[in-house]
Amino acid sequence: MLDADFFRRWMTAAAASVDREAQRLTDLDSPIGDADHGSNLQRGFTAVVAALEKEAPPTPGGVLTLAGHQLISTVGGASGPLYGTLLRRAGKALGDAAEVDTGQLAEALRAGVDGVMTLGGAAPGDKTMIDALLPAVDALGDGFAAARAAAEEGAVATIPLQARKGRASYLGARSIGHQDPGATSSALLIAALEDAAED
Ligand code: ADP
Ligand code: MG
Ligand code: MG
Repeated sequence: MLDADFFRRWMTAAAASVDREAQRLTDLDSPIGDADHGSNLQRGFTAVVAALEKEAPPTPGGVLTLAGHQLISTVGGASGPLYGTLLRRAGKALGDAAEVDTGQLAEALRAGVDGVMTLGGAAPGDKTMIDALLPAVDALGDGFAAARAAAEEGAVATIPLQARKGRASYLGARSIGHQDPGATSSALLIAALEDAAED
Protein backbone atom coordinates (compact mmCIF):
# COMPACT_ATOMS: atom_id res chain seq x y z
CA MET A 1 0.00 0.00 0.00
CA LEU A 2 1.08 3.56 -0.73
CA ASP A 3 0.78 6.13 2.06
CA ALA A 4 1.25 9.91 2.24
CA ASP A 5 4.95 9.41 2.84
CA PHE A 6 5.29 7.49 -0.44
CA PHE A 7 3.59 10.36 -2.30
CA ARG A 8 5.88 12.88 -0.59
CA ARG A 9 8.89 10.82 -1.67
CA TRP A 10 7.45 10.71 -5.21
CA MET A 11 7.23 14.50 -5.40
CA THR A 12 10.68 14.93 -3.83
CA ALA A 13 12.20 12.45 -6.31
CA ALA A 14 10.45 14.24 -9.19
CA ALA A 15 11.88 17.56 -7.99
CA ALA A 16 15.39 16.11 -7.81
CA SER A 17 15.05 14.62 -11.28
CA VAL A 18 13.78 17.92 -12.72
CA ASP A 19 16.77 19.67 -11.09
CA ARG A 20 19.20 17.18 -12.66
CA GLU A 21 17.55 17.35 -16.10
CA ALA A 22 16.55 21.04 -16.16
CA GLN A 23 19.12 22.00 -18.78
CA ARG A 24 18.08 19.12 -21.04
CA LEU A 25 14.38 20.06 -20.72
CA THR A 26 15.15 23.67 -21.56
CA ASP A 27 17.35 22.60 -24.50
CA LEU A 28 14.49 20.47 -25.87
CA ASP A 29 12.19 23.50 -25.50
CA SER A 30 14.62 25.65 -27.49
CA PRO A 31 14.04 24.53 -31.14
CA ILE A 32 10.25 24.04 -30.77
CA GLY A 33 9.41 26.39 -27.90
CA ASP A 34 10.76 29.27 -25.83
CA ALA A 35 13.55 27.52 -23.92
CA ASP A 36 11.98 27.69 -20.46
CA HIS A 37 10.56 24.24 -19.73
CA GLY A 38 13.38 23.22 -17.39
CA SER A 39 13.33 26.46 -15.43
CA ASN A 40 9.51 26.45 -15.31
CA LEU A 41 9.43 23.02 -13.73
CA GLN A 42 12.39 23.72 -11.45
CA ARG A 43 10.53 26.69 -10.00
CA GLY A 44 7.34 24.67 -9.69
CA PHE A 45 8.78 21.57 -8.05
CA THR A 46 10.95 23.61 -5.69
CA ALA A 47 7.72 25.19 -4.46
CA VAL A 48 6.06 21.76 -4.24
CA VAL A 49 8.82 20.37 -2.01
CA ALA A 50 8.83 23.48 0.20
CA ALA A 51 5.04 23.36 0.65
CA LEU A 52 5.08 19.64 1.44
CA GLU A 53 7.79 20.17 4.06
CA LYS A 54 5.82 22.97 5.66
CA GLU A 55 2.36 21.41 5.64
CA ALA A 56 2.94 17.62 5.46
CA PRO A 57 -0.58 16.59 4.36
CA PRO A 58 -1.55 13.30 6.08
CA THR A 59 -3.09 11.58 3.01
CA PRO A 60 -1.95 10.67 -0.53
CA GLY A 61 -4.79 12.78 -1.95
CA GLY A 62 -3.73 15.73 0.19
CA VAL A 63 -0.13 15.51 -1.00
CA LEU A 64 -1.10 15.49 -4.69
CA THR A 65 -3.68 18.25 -4.27
CA LEU A 66 -1.19 20.53 -2.53
CA ALA A 67 1.51 19.73 -5.11
CA GLY A 68 -0.87 20.49 -7.99
CA HIS A 69 -1.89 23.75 -6.40
CA GLN A 70 1.76 24.81 -6.07
CA LEU A 71 2.48 24.03 -9.72
CA ILE A 72 -0.51 26.06 -10.87
CA SER A 73 0.38 29.05 -8.74
CA THR A 74 4.14 29.14 -9.40
CA VAL A 75 4.64 28.06 -13.04
CA GLY A 76 3.84 30.73 -15.61
CA GLY A 77 4.10 28.47 -18.67
CA ALA A 78 1.48 26.14 -20.12
CA SER A 79 2.98 23.18 -18.27
CA GLY A 80 2.11 24.61 -14.81
CA PRO A 81 -1.68 24.54 -15.10
CA LEU A 82 -1.49 21.25 -17.04
CA TYR A 83 0.70 19.39 -14.51
CA GLY A 84 -1.20 21.14 -11.72
CA THR A 85 -4.47 19.78 -13.10
CA LEU A 86 -2.96 16.30 -13.46
CA LEU A 87 -1.99 16.20 -9.78
CA ARG A 88 -5.03 18.01 -8.38
CA ARG A 89 -7.46 15.76 -10.27
CA ALA A 90 -5.53 12.69 -9.21
CA GLY A 91 -5.49 13.93 -5.62
CA LYS A 92 -9.22 14.54 -5.67
CA ALA A 93 -9.81 11.03 -7.06
CA LEU A 94 -7.85 9.53 -4.14
CA GLY A 95 -10.13 11.31 -1.68
CA ASP A 96 -9.09 11.12 1.98
CA ALA A 97 -7.88 7.51 2.06
CA ALA A 98 -4.83 7.07 4.31
CA GLU A 99 -3.35 4.46 1.95
CA VAL A 100 -4.05 3.49 -1.65
CA ASP A 101 -2.97 0.60 -3.87
CA THR A 102 -1.37 0.76 -7.32
CA GLY A 103 -4.73 0.18 -9.00
CA GLN A 104 -6.21 3.20 -7.24
CA LEU A 105 -3.16 5.26 -8.17
CA ALA A 106 -3.57 4.23 -11.83
CA GLU A 107 -7.28 5.15 -11.77
CA ALA A 108 -6.53 8.48 -10.14
CA LEU A 109 -3.80 9.32 -12.65
CA ARG A 110 -6.19 8.39 -15.46
CA ALA A 111 -8.65 10.92 -14.09
CA GLY A 112 -5.79 13.42 -13.95
CA VAL A 113 -4.79 12.76 -17.57
CA ASP A 114 -8.44 13.16 -18.61
CA GLY A 115 -8.39 16.53 -16.85
CA VAL A 116 -5.25 17.56 -18.75
CA MET A 117 -6.85 16.56 -22.07
CA THR A 118 -10.00 18.52 -21.25
CA LEU A 119 -8.06 21.61 -20.17
CA GLY A 120 -5.52 21.61 -23.01
CA GLY A 121 -7.58 19.96 -25.73
CA ALA A 122 -4.74 17.63 -26.72
CA ALA A 123 -5.35 14.10 -27.96
CA PRO A 124 -2.79 11.28 -28.18
CA GLY A 125 -0.42 11.93 -31.11
CA ASP A 126 -0.54 15.73 -30.78
CA LYS A 127 3.09 15.75 -29.54
CA THR A 128 2.46 16.77 -25.93
CA MET A 129 2.88 15.40 -22.41
CA ILE A 130 -0.20 13.26 -23.11
CA ASP A 131 1.93 11.03 -25.37
CA ALA A 132 4.03 9.96 -22.37
CA LEU A 133 1.37 10.14 -19.64
CA LEU A 134 -1.33 8.03 -21.27
CA PRO A 135 0.88 5.00 -22.11
CA ALA A 136 2.33 5.22 -18.60
CA VAL A 137 -1.11 5.10 -17.00
CA ASP A 138 -2.05 2.19 -19.26
CA ALA A 139 1.08 0.30 -18.16
CA LEU A 140 0.85 1.12 -14.46
CA GLY A 141 -1.06 -2.11 -13.75
CA ASP A 142 2.15 -3.95 -14.69
CA GLY A 143 4.21 -1.99 -12.15
CA PHE A 144 6.27 1.18 -11.87
CA ALA A 145 9.10 -0.11 -14.08
CA ALA A 146 6.64 -0.89 -16.88
CA ALA A 147 5.08 2.56 -16.51
CA ARG A 148 8.50 4.21 -16.68
CA ALA A 149 9.44 2.27 -19.83
CA ALA A 150 6.10 3.15 -21.46
CA ALA A 151 6.51 6.85 -20.63
CA GLU A 152 10.08 6.93 -21.97
CA GLU A 153 9.00 5.17 -25.18
CA GLY A 154 6.09 7.59 -25.50
CA ALA A 155 8.41 10.58 -25.12
CA VAL A 156 10.83 9.29 -27.79
CA ALA A 157 7.88 8.50 -30.06
CA THR A 158 7.01 12.23 -30.16
CA ILE A 159 10.12 12.92 -32.31
CA PRO A 160 8.52 12.19 -35.72
CA LEU A 161 5.19 13.80 -34.77
CA GLN A 162 3.98 17.24 -35.81
CA ALA A 163 2.84 19.34 -32.83
CA ARG A 164 -0.86 20.19 -32.82
CA LYS A 165 -1.11 21.87 -29.41
CA GLY A 166 0.91 24.42 -27.48
CA ARG A 167 3.72 26.68 -28.62
CA ALA A 168 5.39 23.99 -30.80
CA SER A 169 2.26 23.83 -32.98
CA TYR A 170 3.04 27.35 -34.27
CA LEU A 171 5.97 25.77 -36.15
CA GLY A 172 3.77 23.43 -38.15
CA ALA A 173 5.83 20.82 -39.99
CA ARG A 174 9.04 22.33 -38.58
CA SER A 175 8.15 20.81 -35.22
CA ILE A 176 8.82 17.36 -36.73
CA GLY A 177 12.14 15.77 -35.72
CA HIS A 178 12.31 17.12 -32.17
CA GLN A 179 11.37 15.37 -28.92
CA ASP A 180 8.60 17.13 -27.01
CA PRO A 181 9.89 18.71 -23.77
CA GLY A 182 6.65 18.10 -21.87
CA ALA A 183 6.53 14.43 -22.84
CA THR A 184 10.14 14.21 -21.65
CA SER A 185 9.38 15.76 -18.26
CA SER A 186 6.34 13.49 -17.94
CA ALA A 187 8.66 10.52 -18.32
CA LEU A 188 10.78 11.94 -15.46
CA LEU A 189 7.68 12.32 -13.28
CA ILE A 190 6.66 8.70 -13.91
CA ALA A 191 10.21 7.41 -13.44
CA ALA A 192 10.24 9.10 -10.02
CA LEU A 193 7.54 6.64 -8.87
CA GLU A 194 10.17 3.92 -9.02
CA ASP A 195 12.62 6.03 -7.00
CA ALA A 196 9.94 6.62 -4.36
CA ALA A 197 9.22 2.89 -4.15
CA GLU A 198 12.90 2.00 -3.69
CA ASP A 199 13.56 4.51 -0.90
P1 ADP B 1 5.26 27.17 -22.46
O1 ADP B 1 5.03 26.47 -23.76
O2 ADP B 1 4.13 28.02 -22.04
O3 ADP B 1 6.60 27.88 -22.42
P2 ADP B 1 6.45 24.93 -21.05
O4 ADP B 1 7.63 25.17 -21.93
O5 ADP B 1 6.72 24.86 -19.60
O6 ADP B 1 5.32 26.01 -21.33
O7 ADP B 1 5.76 23.55 -21.44
C1 ADP B 1 5.68 23.12 -22.78
C2 ADP B 1 5.09 21.72 -22.81
O8 ADP B 1 3.74 21.75 -22.38
C3 ADP B 1 5.04 21.12 -24.20
O9 ADP B 1 6.24 20.46 -24.54
C4 ADP B 1 3.85 20.17 -24.14
O10 ADP B 1 4.25 18.86 -23.76
C5 ADP B 1 3.01 20.75 -23.04
N1 ADP B 1 1.79 21.35 -23.59
C6 ADP B 1 1.67 22.57 -24.13
N2 ADP B 1 0.39 22.79 -24.51
C7 ADP B 1 -0.30 21.65 -24.21
C8 ADP B 1 -1.68 21.24 -24.33
N3 ADP B 1 -2.60 22.05 -24.85
N4 ADP B 1 -2.00 20.00 -23.87
C9 ADP B 1 -1.08 19.20 -23.33
N5 ADP B 1 0.22 19.53 -23.18
C10 ADP B 1 0.60 20.73 -23.61
MG1 MG C 1 8.35 26.76 -22.95
MG1 MG D 1 7.11 29.81 -21.76
